[in-house]
Amino acid sequence: MGNRRNFLNVVLLGAASAAAAGARAQAKPVELTESDPVAMALGYKIDATKVDKAKYPKYVAGEACAGCQLFAGKPTDAMAPCAAFANKLVSGKGWCNAWVKRP
Ligand code: SF4
Repeated sequence: MGNRRNFLNVVLLGAASAAAAGARAQAKPVELTESDPVAMALGYKIDATKVDKAKYPKYVAGEACAGCQLFAGKPTDAMAPCAAFANKLVSGKGWCNAWVKRP
């Protein structure tokens, strides 16, 4: 019977960790903040009009996350995950130096 109990323990532990992984996957996506080190490195601003134009001359007025290829949402979404920031939520009105025009 000892072996059977061990087997059950392994199965139960496996199920518990699978459930924990599932809970993590469903966790609410995190919103990207401007103070995030990666956000700072790419000059991300929640409001594109606040972009440091001297530091990021690539920025053209009118560009925003909603019109960026990496914005994983509809152009009308207020927020959507962005692949450049490990799928953290970025503002549709935001901008960063990795901006690529949506095709
Ligand atoms: Fe916004 Fe595009 Fe930069 Fe992501 S990569 S933060 S969608 S501009």
